[in-house]
Amino acid sequence: MLLSVRNLHARIGDKQILKGINLEIAPGEVHAIMGPNGSGKSTLSQVLAGRETYTVTEGEVLFDGKDLLALKPEDRSTAGVFLAFQYPVEIPGVGNLHFLRTALNAQRRAKGLEELDAMDFLSLAKERMKLVQMDQSFLNRSVNEGFSGGEKKRNEVFQMAVLQPRLAILDETDSGLDIDALRIVAGGVNALRSKERGMLVITHYQRLLDYIVPDKVHVMAGGRIVMSGDKELALELEKKGYAWVDKLGSAPQ
Ligand code: ADP
Ligand code: MG
Ligand code: MG
Repeated sequence: MLLSVRNLHARIGDKQILKGINLEIAPGEVHAIMGPNGSGKSTLSQVLAGRETYTVTEGEVLFDGKDLLALKPEDRSTAGVFLAFQYPVEIPGVGNLHFLRTALNAQRRAKGLEELDAMDFLSLAKERMKLVQMDQSFLNRSVNEGFSGGEKKRNEVFQMAVLQPRLAILDETDSGLDIDALRIVAGGVNALRSKERGMLVITHYQRLLDYIVPDKVHVMAGGRIVMSGDKELALELEKKGYAWVDKLGSAPQ
């Protein structure tokens, strides 16, 4: 199994947010997590990536059979766990390209590969940008300056295309995307599907899943996965609305 999440509980401050998540992703699988706002979807992605504002209070996460929670965030990234950097406030003003090269070279060092110099990296980056139909002027802008919603999302998929993670986590990839940008982002995601790679696509909206067809769909409510199924579940959910699952999420444990 690529990822095994077992009985995962996590809190922020005194607030318990994840209340026993169980999830298994095999290599090659794309899983979608849907759920109402506030159900804990982003918290799950942040906990998997190791963002430090969250405290795991119970449970375990195995990545390739190894204890993921024991690794520092940067070591998780180097091991192949990818969560797109949406708000990289910790590195203000660092060029998009520079930032990505640093992350890629950390990965290459861990694999015993030679680091890419600026020139080689630039050609790789340009090739991968085509995947998301991204303009090359993008490379020189700093990470979080003046990106539109669509550009931020393209940038996330571009980061993924460069880093080629074993497990890619995409959180709310459709927020702020018009339908054309959505297609481009989904096209990039689909191009990166492979039999070695697992993907966890987190979304509030069913429409993203018209373009990224998942192998499995899970519904989160109240910090737990309350339902799992195949892609039909997403359609059912759209029809019935989230009030339907909110009730399940507030049921006593
Ligand atoms: P989702 O992504 O499903 O909308 P989140 O994981 O963002 O849900 O949030 C889950 C719950 O955790 C919400 O009730 C939210 O208000 C709360 N929460 C998220 N971040 C923080 C924070 N930094 N401090 C306190 N509560 C938070
Ligand atoms: Mg939210
Ligand atoms: Mg969220």
